[in-house]
Amino acid sequence: VTMPDELVENGAAPKHPAVAQLPESERKRILVTGGAGFVGSHLVDRLMTQGHEVIVLDNMFTGRKKNVQHWIGHPHFQLIIHDVVEPIMLEIDQIYHLACPASPPHYQYNPIKTIKTSTQGTLNMLGLAKRTGARMLLTSTSEVYGDPEEHPQRETYWGHVNQLGPRACYDEGKRVAETMMYAYHAQGGLEVRVARIFNTFGPRMHPNDGRVVSNFIIQALQGKDMTIYGDGSQTRSFQYVDDLVDGLVMLMNSNYHLPVNIGNPEEFSVKQFATLIKDLTGSASRIAHLPATQDDPHKRKPDIALAKRELGWEPRVHVHDGLAHTIAFFKGVLKSGEIVPTG
Ligand code: NAD
Ligand code: UDP
Ligand code: UDP
Repeated sequence: VTMPDELVENGAAPKHPAVAQLPESERKRILVTGGAGFVGSHLVDRLMTQGHEVIVLDNMFTGRKKNVQHWIGHPHFQLIIHDVVEPIMLEIDQIYHLACPASPPHYQYNPIKTIKTSTQGTLNMLGLAKRTGARMLLTSTSEVYGDPEEHPQRETYWGHVNQLGPRACYDEGKRVAETMMYAYHAQGGLEVRVARIFNTFGPRMHPNDGRVVSNFIIQALQGKDMTIYGDGSQTRSFQYVDDLVDGLVMLMNSNYHLPVNIGNPEEFSVKQFATLIKDLTGSASRIAHLPATQDDPHKRKPDIALAKRELGWEPRVHVHDGLAHTIAFFKGVLKSGEIVPTG
């Protein structure tokens, strides 16, 4: 989806990207919580393009109006500024429940709020799903596996989370959110889907959300030191956002109701990843080592056999290609003069 050339000017009707014309019987009313965020806005683009009606609920904590600006005024689209911690009455057919800060600096900024969002927020969406009979998908995370002792991680692994550490507000919040999904399924007959998402990157990542992909790219483009936390031997496996959106939509519309890993198994050490981004940007930045962060998982890589078998899904975008798109996006952000504090 590309941005319209001109937005509203002199009261003229705004232009929007094209959407498919679905017959009324196939058009769904779909709620996307957190739809103004990074992943959410790409999901909204996909659902709108398919011809569905989309309602975004977002409190704009880390979301930005400009991520969905190109849909504002479209008859199929509605943006509601609302905090999921508060109840809400809507009539919908499906819920993609993404609302939750996702990067460590953002979710640790106000841990109590992060916990409320994953618990009370998820409870409200489950209550809404129960009342309307909507199917609900939760975006859970590879963080439910904590600092894993099984590698790669399969869905059957119970995880290794420090419930008292700085990451716990996020990890334990998502773990109990999963528990609530299956309690409502068992007790209330709700149709539930749970995606355990592994590290995802792409355009519209928040420039200062502190994640490794955005930090390294911005630092490299600005010629600043690239900050590795610890010795850089820890690993992550990075997936491009388009692949994730494919996986979320395929999971929602599948018949499989247990948790499914959605991630790209291509694994890098953080040190290798810094060198890769330095090469792709042609940067002269130096590598700087900062202290390791507490409870940083040592390794992470999804086993995606289940997604392949149950959904027929697997990633299609090579990490290098996804990084090229993302680097181009951040070049645009820097050119536009948006203030970007780093490190
Ligand atoms: P993001 O921070 O860009 O998006 C989260 C969105 O939720 C933002 O628009 C934010 O304003 C909104 N939000 C937060 N708290 C809210 C509240 N109380 N009420 C209403 N809206 C609220 O992050 P993202 O990367 O797009 O992540 C989306 C989802 O995917 C999250 O649930 C996250 O846990 C999950 N996830 C993401 C990744 C990843 O690598 N990006 C990995 C695992 C899981
Ligand atoms: N809820 C909501 N919208 C609805 C239905 C429910 O926000 O359309 C909230 C409701 O306020 C409650 C939560 O969802 O806090 C759980 O609802 P449920 O009906 O499961 O539980 P109860 O209201 O009986 O505690
Ligand atoms: N990281 C890093 N430098 C940065 C940001 C992150 O070395 O500027 C490391 C971080 O310690 C972790 C990995 O990169 O080992 C991924 O961090 P991110 O915050 O992107 O995601 P998460 O820890 O949630 O997987």
